[in-house]
Order: sequence, then structure tokens, then C-alpha cells
Amino acid sequence: MGEKKAKKEITPRRRFFTDIAYGVGLSAMGGLLWAGYTNKAKSSPLVLRPPASVEEDDFLKLCIKCGLCVEACRNRPSNIDKETGEAKKPTLKLAKAEDDITIGTPFFTPRDIPCFMCDDIPCVPVCPSGALDITKVTNPKSGELDITMMDMGLAVVDPNSCIAFWGIQCDACYRACPLMDVAIKLEYGRNERTGKHAFLKPVVSMNDCTGCGLCEQACVTEKAAIFILPRDVALGKPGDHYVKGWDKKDQQRVENRVESDVTTHNKRSEKKPEDYLNMGVEY
Ligand code: SF4
Ligand code: SF4
Repeated sequence: MGEKKAKKEITPRRRFFTDIAYGVGLSAMGGLLWAGYTNKAKSSPLVLRPPASVEEDDFLKLCIKCGLCVEACRNRPSNIDKETGEAKKPTLKLAKAEDDITIGTPFFTPRDIPCFMCDDIPCVPVCPSGALDITKVTNPKSGELDITMMDMGLAVVDPNSCIAFWGIQCDACYRACPLMDVAIKLEYGRNERTGKHAFLKPVVSMNDCTGCGLCEQACVTEKAAIFILPRDVALGKPGDHYVKGWDKKDQQRVENRVESDVTTHNKRSEKKPEDYLNMGVEY
């Protein structure tokens, strides 16, 4: 076998171009990584945060990623299962790169491990930054912590995959709810087709559900038919200019309104409705 070919000599000119190419490659890669990072630092619309979290945009500004809430949680990552000797699944986790959530921020996934709504809410007072706001779970009258004031999310039922809507008897989510008959009620019905099967349809009260996710974890279907969404994703918003005619308090807003607040008046409003009726019709 012949001798290995001698390496090509690296001339100063060749090194110059190699260095430039290397530098461009690195900066492009850096740019990509930075773009990825800034993308991750934006709010994640579907993420569920710990109890008493402030709005997602503010949460991202305030959370210093210290992990104190995760460690203070009753289901903390250091809890060991006595039978297996392995670490138990924690409720709160700090996001890793693969989670598609701003890295290092706390979140939970109810289908894995929900929040158990501890009465003393140990995860909240430890937060040093205000990302978890204790006033959100403090009763203003008594000054005591009130776990039912939590609003981590809202349970949503998919009636197409919830088997209770098919007439199959299932009340797993209802029984798992810590606020049974308040946050989830059962609506009873009769299957008109068979005349036999009763419906036990779960109905969620949007004012009482805290988003703990115990229902989602308990759901028996392959992919949960009841699941938690952040409240601003699950709920609509009618707009401040609509008034409930039957609500005296809301009616007051009309009486108190200042003319300059009315913004629905525009150029089109100068015409009468009948002006538009036969627009474009030639006689
Ligand atoms: S309320 Fe309890 S279970 Fe829920 S996150 Fe806080 S410490 Fe963990
Ligand atoms: S304790 Fe507060 S600041 Fe620390 S990780 Fe939890 S939410 Fe963020």
C-alpha cells in the first residue's frame, strides 16, 4: 500500500478564507440559536402555570426560574416512591428545551400529574419575584389563603369523545373533582333511542373550576375528553360595548357613559339603513 497522501499545505490565503467561512457559520448558528431562544421567551399560549400565576406575559418578565415553587410543592421532584425507590412524578416541572415552553419556567401537565389543591398552597408564598401573586388566592375579607380562588385554567369537555355523552355510564371526572357538584355537576338525561341508558353528562362551571386538572387525569378515554386549557384560551370575550339589558349594574354603565367613549359612530353611521337597501340597483 502506498503512503498516505501528504496533507494539503494550508497557505495564509487559504486559512483567511477558511476562518471567514467558519466565522460566518458560527454566527449563522448563533443567530439561529438566538432566534430559537427569543421564540421560546415569548409567551406559550397553551402552557399551564402554577397556582396564583400572574398573566402569562407578566409571568415571563417576573419569573426568575429559581424553582422554589417546584421544590415547595407537595409533589416535589425529590419525593421518592417507597415501593419502587424511584423518584415520583412531580406536579410542577421546570421547562426543558424539548418542552416547547420558555426554558426554566415552571408548568404542569395535568394528564401526567395534576395539582392537588393543597389547602395551605405551599408553592405560592415561596415565590420571591411576584410571578406567583399570593393576593390572587387570599380571601380579602378573612385574609386567609383560599385554594378555591385559584384560576390555573378551565376544564373543557369534548362531547364527541366523552363517553358519558354516548350514554355509557361514566362519572370519573365528576368523582375526581375536589369541588364535586360545584365545579363539575352531572346533567342527567335519558337516551330517547334505547329508552334504557341514562346520560350522566359532566357540566363544568366556569366560575368555580380552578383548573387543577384532577378531572383530566381521571378521564378514562384514550386521550382525555375533559382537559384543561388556560382560561384566556378557553373563554371568549364579548367586548366592553355590549350591555346586559337585564342586569341593573351593567345598565348603570350606559347611564354613566361619556359621549366621547362611544366609538361605534363612523362615516357610515351618517347614512340611514334604507340608504343601503337598494344600493347598486338600477331602475
Ligand atoms: S397546590 Fe399543592 S399540588 Fe398544587 S402546585 Fe401547589 S403545592 Fe403542588
Ligand atoms: S418561585 Fe416564582 S420566580 Fe421561582 S420559578 Fe417559581 S414562579 Fe418562577
